[in-house]
Amino acid sequence: MSLMESISKVNRDLSSLTNGTIESHQLMETRDYQKNAVIPRSDQLLKDTISLTDLSPLNEGSVLGCLHQRFVNDNIYTNAGSTIVAVNPFKSIEELYTVDKVLSYHDQFEDSPHIYKVGYEAYNRLCHGLGKTDQCIIVSGESGSGKTVTAKHLLRYMTTVANSHGETVRRSSQHSLSIEQRILESNPILEAFGNAVTQRNDNSSRFGKFILLQFSSVDIPYRDGQMLGGEIQTYLLEKTRVVHQLPGECNFHVFYQIIKSLSMAQDTYLGDQIQKMGENPFTTLPDSKELSCNRDLTETLDAMDKIGISEMTRNEITRILVGILFLCNVKISALDEDVGKMSKEQDEDILESSVLEVSQTSLDQFADLVGLDSSFIEQVLLHRNIQSGGSKRRSVFVKPVSKREAYSRRDCLAMLLYSRLFEWLVSFINKQIQCSTYDNTIGLLDIYGFEAFNTNSLEQLCINYANEKLQQHYVKHFLNDLQKEYEEECIDWQHVNYTDNQACLDILEGQPSVFGLLNEDVQLNRETNTENLCDRILELSRSNPGYIKRPKNFMKSPGFTIFHYAGHVTYDGADLSTKNRDNIPQELVLMLQKSTNSFVSELFTGFMVEESTGRKRKTVLGKFKASLDSLMSTLHRSHVHYIRCIKPNTCSVPSVFDRKFVHSQLMACGIIETVEISKTGYPIRMPYNMFHQRYGLIIPNSKTPPDSDSEHTGCMNNDTIYEPLDMLYHKQLDLISHQSPRKSNTPKRKLR
Ligand code: ADP
Ligand code: MG
Repeated sequence: MSLMESISKVNRDLSSLTNGTIESHQLMETRDYQKNAVIPRSDQLLKDTISLTDLSPLNEGSVLGCLHQRFVNDNIYTNAGSTIVAVNPFKSIEELYTVDKVLSYHDQFEDSPHIYKVGYEAYNRLCHGLGKTDQCIIVSGESGSGKTVTAKHLLRYMTTVANSHGETVRRSSQHSLSIEQRILESNPILEAFGNAVTQRNDNSSRFGKFILLQFSSVDIPYRDGQMLGGEIQTYLLEKTRVVHQLPGECNFHVFYQIIKSLSMAQDTYLGDQIQKMGENPFTTLPDSKELSCNRDLTETLDAMDKIGISEMTRNEITRILVGILFLCNVKISALDEDVGKMSKEQDEDILESSVLEVSQTSLDQFADLVGLDSSFIEQVLLHRNIQSGGSKRRSVFVKPVSKREAYSRRDCLAMLLYSRLFEWLVSFINKQIQCSTYDNTIGLLDIYGFEAFNTNSLEQLCINYANEKLQQHYVKHFLNDLQKEYEEECIDWQHVNYTDNQACLDILEGQPSVFGLLNEDVQLNRETNTENLCDRILELSRSNPGYIKRPKNFMKSPGFTIFHYAGHVTYDGADLSTKNRDNIPQELVLMLQKSTNSFVSELFTGFMVEESTGRKRKTVLGKFKASLDSLMSTLHRSHVHYIRCIKPNTCSVPSVFDRKFVHSQLMACGIIETVEISKTGYPIRMPYNMFHQRYGLIIPNSKTPPDSDSEHTGCMNNDTIYEPLDMLYHKQLDLISHQSPRKSNTPKRKLR
């Protein structure tokens, strides 16, 4: 609908009414109307409202009411300007995702809000070179809101329409699978290795994922928009989950799949070993509930097979995974330790002078599975190398470590093996799906939503920083597009200079900033004193007050509170620096490189540990920021489409719409803000005939109603849209709802 059809300017100054030509008695006049000529404000109306910007009045209540009514009626998708809001139904609505549905959007038979419509728009823009040809679809929302399912449906949409478009592309004769199928097969593999049961979602992705689908040029006749390949970029795999899980949470799915399969296997050495160990044999697989779930190793192995991972490699991967489980079972104790008499703290702080030993059975199993010698592993776990002297006269000393450090080296080894395996899988998949020459791309981003837990650490800092960056992009994109549309349609519009979340981003990544101070400690190899570090971070409030604050319990637990756009989060200072360092002892890598198992040694060929100090020392924050910067530049050169996923209730059950919970998400993802920004503009758009039906009685000299949606006869006075009429209507609404009348038409300039 064109903006010239827009009929309302909600925040118009009431004083403009004085210029109007309506006499008050005209409003008091009584007229008779046919029932069907009156538009009732009812649930029915809300249910049929396909765009939140069509709501009148437009406020948080009506937005919630509309989403609720649509949810109840299984209309889970709603437009919000150029964004789509998707409410997770927590039940299968099969008719929404049939192939016919895909094709009906592709062939433009359907236009109602749907993620396929977003898919269509992205693909159509790409094929017809409308504006920027590269496209990105950002799927965001909190954990369990449906991002991954949405991204999967979108991927299926793209693979279906791009496939139907032309001849199926085969990469090489050895592959029987098309590129599209291979891209789809990457999903079960990455889900098995990167997803886990958490308190919020039984299939929670513990990494961010960006798939860049590669297409052929629009200039090649009959081959335009053909999917040629893809490339997957992952962010921040939560590798600590391998060794530690919160109460009620589980390890990555793949471990359970393997153990379930081995515990049923007959006549296999590994299967026999595990069956002998009885129930719950591994300390790092906390919840046996996962073992009884439907997830099956066969599906993962099948997908690996289809994507080209040989049986031998699949077996090696299985052995490494079981090896990691045995490694986490390894216990470390002091030879002279009298466990019964020691407190937990004493136990963990056993001095370096104590002689440590490791439990042999688990260590031997691990050693065997990864092709290493037990005594070599024991030596590396219980001793650290210290280098001294310059580059010419460097000598290495070996020093025993404390029990606490020995455990942390064990955990580090387990996480290192797992994260390298994950990286290897992603790069293998990429080799199988990438195409070296392509013209345009559609990116699908499925990344963690904003996180605020009781205790927040470096992971949350990274995730929330990513969300701040995406939010900034969203607000800029939304406001710019909106204002450009007004200007293009020659609407009298004063450009709104909005304030975005730049100040918060300055605190996080500017100069000086939280990231800068955390990185400085690592680069200068400074021994970190948590309280002192947090004090230095809190000094940032001088240049940016209002965005960072000292938490109340600072003395007990030093940290800092950041006021993000989606809410405030208190970050715990302890461990921030250690996690940012992510020190991987070189001895561990050298050991793995010497494995007699060629798959293990290959995994670590060329793997470089970070230099311990210096400006070039990469930190976790540094690497994350670099990958996010690259993502942002992809977004900047692309046309971006947004899908905001909403979780209707905290229990992940169907048919329950918790308004308060939904409201908080709408605030956090900026939908309410978006709607508020719309209020300063022209948010309500109505066909002329509907306008006449609604306001005709107060239009002076109104003639016959217009015949069509775009015919403006009878709606205009002196060729201008009769804006004050709408204001009058809103004044009435305000009085009815006992709100104070709108005061001014000054656009809100701040988003906060
Ligand atoms: P997120 O990636 O946002 O954490 P998921 O995409 O994994 O969330 O969705 C969580 C669960 O919600 C899924 O396992 C599925 O049961 C359900 N779900 C999500 N989207 C849909 C949908 N469109 N239809 C039916 N169920 C859905
Ligand atoms: Mg997910």
